[in-house]
Amino acid sequence: MKIAVFSTKQYDQKFLLAANGAGEHEFNFFEEKLNSNTVFLAQGHDAICCFVNDILTAHVLDQLKALGIKFIALRCAGFNQVDIRHADSIGIKVTHVPAYSPFAVAEFALTLILALNRKIHRAYNRVRDGNFSIEGLQGFDLNGCTIGLVGTGKIGRVMAQILSGFGVRVLGYDVFPNKEFGAMGKYVDLDTLFAESNIVSLHCPLTPDTYHIIDQHSIAKMKRGVMIINTSRGALVDAPAVIEGLKSGQIGYLGLDVYEQEADVFYENLSEEIIQDDVLQRLVAFPNVLVTSHQAYFTDTALKNIAQTTLDNVAAFANGEELKNAVTIEMLH
Ligand code: NAD
Repeated sequence: MKIAVFSTKQYDQKFLLAANGAGEHEFNFFEEKLNSNTVFLAQGHDAICCFVNDILTAHVLDQLKALGIKFIALRCAGFNQVDIRHADSIGIKVTHVPAYSPFAVAEFALTLILALNRKIHRAYNRVRDGNFSIEGLQGFDLNGCTIGLVGTGKIGRVMAQILSGFGVRVLGYDVFPNKEFGAMGKYVDLDTLFAESNIVSLHCPLTPDTYHIIDQHSIAKMKRGVMIINTSRGALVDAPAVIEGLKSGQIGYLGLDVYEQEADVFYENLSEEIIQDDVLQRLVAFPNVLVTSHQAYFTDTALKNIAQTTLDNVAAFANGEELKNAVTIEMLH
């Protein structure tokens, strides 16, 4: 297969080429994100390979179809960025990488919790500036806290498993509860989770039901000084609403690895430019906010598994085999 690979960095190329072994498939790597202006790059290929910020609207899918693209291999778990119904209706198959390392993401969510609580980002800067005062760096014991997980799938369950070592009370909310989580934490309704948790961590997909699940109304239901962690998808959080929550003190800590408007900013070095996104700039200016650039998945294990599963998906399509990682309309909630 001849595959156009969009949104690629050096690390994507390295791991995909390694998984391609003897060079069974031919890759053309493009740094560009896929959109209606860059879709022409897919010309002359059989398939495309995309990541989280390649937005595949019905219009882009129609353009791909006209260029002869039959197959889209997503090299990520989430598929909210693809109009799956439209892809299905025009006969383009889509696969994703449902699990590559739930540990990578859960461990990163925990990293944000610990760093925010113990103010590691501030301590790091202080000592580099010769300031060895610990005034203002006081944290709290996680032990004894209540942590609410919204979404108890693969990542939420690893999170619950890791948290069990901290002596915390773990609450969970999921539209499809599962027994494995039930053995580690307690299922409650969403309002109870918001009301009782010291820390709320999001591990659900972005769907019409979860869009802005964190907004002014849900924030008002939370404990004063709550910590909110989002390592799932940016649009789960209404950013202007959390800014108000932070300014009033209702939100005490915020950790974001994803951001609703991240597509124009994340993964790029913009250090020589004036950032035009005032909401993002306000968020990063808070001392009790940590923003990272959608890096929770970014471990060597995850990159290796992503590349291998993506290539397995390509091989299955090329050989006319069943696509066990197909994204189907039945998977849309
Ligand atoms: P998963 O499919 O195993 O689990 C998701 C869980 O969310 C399921 O149990 C599902 O029933 C539940 N859910 C669906 N709708 C819900 C709703 N309305 N309310 C509550 N729960 C709901 O997925 P996963 O592997 O655990 O990944 C979770 C999310 O993490 C992905 O959808 C993706 O958006 C995100 N993710 C982020 C990164 C990153 O680098 N930051 C990497 C991988 C995945």
